[in-house]
Amino acid sequence: MEKLIDSFGREIIYLRISLTDRCNFRCIYCSPAENMFHFIEHEQILRFEEILEIVQAAVEMGISKVRLTGGEPLVRRGVVNLIRQLKKITGLEDISMTTNGYYLSEMARSLHSAGLDRINISLDSLDREKFKSIAGFDGLPQVLDGIDAALREGLTPVKINVVLLKGINDDEVENFIKLTAERPLTVRFIELMPTNHSLKEINESHFISVKKIREKIMDRFLEIKEVLAEKGCGPASYYHLPDAQGMFGFITAVSQHFCTCCNRIRLTAEGNLRPCLFNDSELELKKRLRKVPLNQQELRKSTIRNFLKEAVRAKPSGHRLGAQNNADFSMSQIGG
Ligand code: SAM
Ligand code: SF4
Repeated sequence: MEKLIDSFGREIIYLRISLTDRCNFRCIYCSPAENMFHFIEHEQILRFEEILEIVQAAVEMGISKVRLTGGEPLVRRGVVNLIRQLKKITGLEDISMTTNGYYLSEMARSLHSAGLDRINISLDSLDREKFKSIAGFDGLPQVLDGIDAALREGLTPVKINVVLLKGINDDEVENFIKLTAERPLTVRFIELMPTNHSLKEINESHFISVKKIREKIMDRFLEIKEVLAEKGCGPASYYHLPDAQGMFGFITAVSQHFCTCCNRIRLTAEGNLRPCLFNDSELELKKRLRKVPLNQQELRKSTIRNFLKEAVRAKPSGHRLGAQNNADFSMSQIGG
């Protein structure tokens, strides 16, 4: 079967799927107001049967990793069952999820037994009031319980995503690093990325380059050790404190991006294939697929394959964030 290799020789093996554009949080840099975006109508959201059909075809073309994201993936009813079905797809080696963690304490066990391999949990503050002001929701205790549950259930490695916000949580970096001393967590500090143009002010006033933070940390913790680079396309290095169980790293999507090794494409909640997060062009796969009768399985499969090939062909060599951002999108609809 033909592999998914783009015009720049990059092999695409990773599909990120946004399960919903809905979320129980209102993070200031993502979707701060209930009425900020027009929510996708229920019948326009990709159905689980369609997701499974697309993933099956994608795996036959070399996709081996899938990440479920959103919006908040745990608010989509039936997500555990979706994972159970995904797990049955031969050749799909890795199923992961990015979640805000709020429902994780009650769901971690069933997610793991359904086949979820690992999890990334977003957490921007360890201070309850500050958490509330960033997420628009008083949910810190539940998220911390969710992290415990993920570790207990072995959804490892458990990664914690911290979006760095100048003047808001950049004073908490040391506390996040200390979290890794006694627990096998991987904390990743992430640069704030420009997304929806209506969030321009927040993006500009709270952006801080991770380079600055990294330098400060290196001066503060002289005993930090560098550990092996992660396999695949991610932060180049991780670090750990002496005798620490966990580690931490920095993701510089804006000031130093990873486009040259990008191995992913995205499937939006609405069923569009998006070749690059920072380029608004999308291919309307679901729209076309719904025109093909359900009993025409071969035609449905070849439709999906052609869309996947086209999406991969349309991948740009890289984005120009920092220099210029023309993309105007909602992270909760596309899936960060
Ligand atoms: N609701 C889930 C969560 O928060 O983990 C999954 C979806 S969320 C869009 C995925 C990730 O994107 C989160 O880690 C979030 O912090 C990150 N994110 C959202 N907007 C961002 C932005 N403007 N810059 C950097 N990261 C962002
Ligand atoms: Fe929801 Fe995640 Fe966006 Fe926060 S970052 S509003 S938790 S989708």
